[in-house]
Amino acid sequence: MSISKELLDILACPKCKNNLKLTEKENGLVCEKCKKVYPIQDDIPILLIEEAIDLEKFYNNSDK
Ligand SMILES: [Zn+2]
Repeated sequence: MSISKELLDILACPKCKNNLKLTEKENGLVCEKCKKVYPIQDDIPILLIEEAIDLEKFYNNSDK
């Protein structure tokens, strides 16, 4: 199971309320405005500002 399109439409960045975009690997939700990624754990998006990962850091880590 993955994040549905309907759910994605509802989800917004907790910081700026911008729409979120699913990452290619479907393991995070990107806010392009804040340059942050909100991780998805067990199909549950963690929409907490303190859990957000820097966009750059996120992509560097996922390569390893
Ligand atoms: Zn944002």
